[in-house]
Amino acid sequence: MAITELTLRRASELRAMVDDYVDASTRALTARWAQAWQEVAQEWQDTIAVILARKAAGEPLTPAQITNLARTQRALAMTAVKLRELAAELGPLLEDSVREVVERTADLTTGVAASQMPPVDSKLLPSFTRVDQPALEQIIERTMTGIVASSAPLAPEALDAVRSSLIRAVPSGWHPDRAAREMLRRSRGAFTGGLTRALRIARTEILDSHRAANAAQNAANPAVVAQIWTAQLSSRTCPSCLARHGTEYPKDAVGPEDHVCGRCTFTPKTKTWAELGFPDVEEPPDLFQTTEDWIDQNPHDAVAALGPDRYRMLQDGQISIADMARRVDNPDWRPSYQATPLADLRKAAKNP
Ligand SMILES: [Zn+2]
Repeated sequence: MAITELTLRRASELRAMVDDYVDASTRALTARWAQAWQEVAQEWQDTIAVILARKAAGEPLTPAQITNLARTQRALAMTAVKLRELAAELGPLLEDSVREVVERTADLTTGVAASQMPPVDSKLLPSFTRVDQPALEQIIERTMTGIVASSAPLAPEALDAVRSSLIRAVPSGWHPDRAAREMLRRSRGAFTGGLTRALRIARTEILDSHRAANAAQNAANPAVVAQIWTAQLSSRTCPSCLARHGTEYPKDAVGPEDHVCGRCTFTPKTKTWAELGFPDVEEPPDLFQTTEDWIDQNPHDAVAALGPDRYRMLQDGQISIADMARRVDNPDWRPSYQATPLADLRKAAKNP
C-alpha cells in the first residue's frame, strides 16, 4: 500500500497519456471542421450577396422568403451534406484513440499498482494479470456506440443554427459590405457550434473509456483494495477537486466523478505489505499528500485555489474540507462533483 514517488509519477503519466489523446483529437477535429467550412464558405458568401442585393433593390424579404430562395436552399443542402459527413466521421476518427487509451490505461494502471509492492521476488506477489481482453473490447464497443448516439443530433442542430443565423436582422443602416461580413461571420459561428459539440463528445467519450478501463483493471487486480480520488494539487485546482482529493472508493467504482474538463484520476490503493504476506519487510510511509497537509504547507496556493473566503472559513473551522464539494445530477451527463457555492457555505457556517 505504500504510495511512493513512483506511484504518483506513474499515476500522473497515465493521466497525461489520456490528455494527449484528447488534445490530438481536438486538433484533428478543429482542422477538419475548418476545412469543411472552407468548402461551403463561398456558397454562403454568394447567398448572402443575393439576399443583400434584393434588399437593396427594395424587396422586404421575410425570414420565410429568405429561407425559400433557391440560392439559400442550395447552400443549406450543401451544408447539410457536409455536416452529415462530419458527424458520420466522428466515430471512425476517434476509434483508434479510444482503443489505444483503453489498452494503455490497462497497462499503465497495472504499473501504478505494481509500484506499491514490496521489494521481494515478484513470484511471491499476487499476479498482476491484465484485465481480460473481452472486457476491454466491451468498453471500446460501448464507447463507440455512445459516440454514434451522441453525434446523431449534431448535423441537424448545426444546420438549424446556420439557417437561423441567416434570417437574423442586420442593423438597417449598415453598409452592404459590413452587413455581408457580419452575416458570414454569423453563419460561420453557427456552423462551428457543431464543432464545439463534437469536441465535447470526443473529450467525454475518451475520458469515460479511460475511466472504465481504469476501474476494470483495478477490479481485476487481486492486490488492489480501493481507489483513491487524486487531484493535482495546485493554485489552479478548484475547491471541489480539493475537497474530493483523498476520498476512497471501491476498487471497481468507475470514476472519479469530477466536473466537465476535470483532470482528476483514481489511484489504486493496494494491500499493506503485511497483508500481502510480508510482515517483516518494513513498509515506507505513504507519500500521498492529503488536502489538509497541502493547505497547511502551501497557504498562498491554497488561498488562490479556494479564494480568501473559503480559506478563512476553513481556517476558522466553520466549514470542513468535505463541505466544499457537492454531488450534482446532470440531465445529459453523469453526476459530478462541483464546488459548493460560497453562499451555501456561508449559510452552513452560520447554522452548524
Ligand atoms: Zn476541479
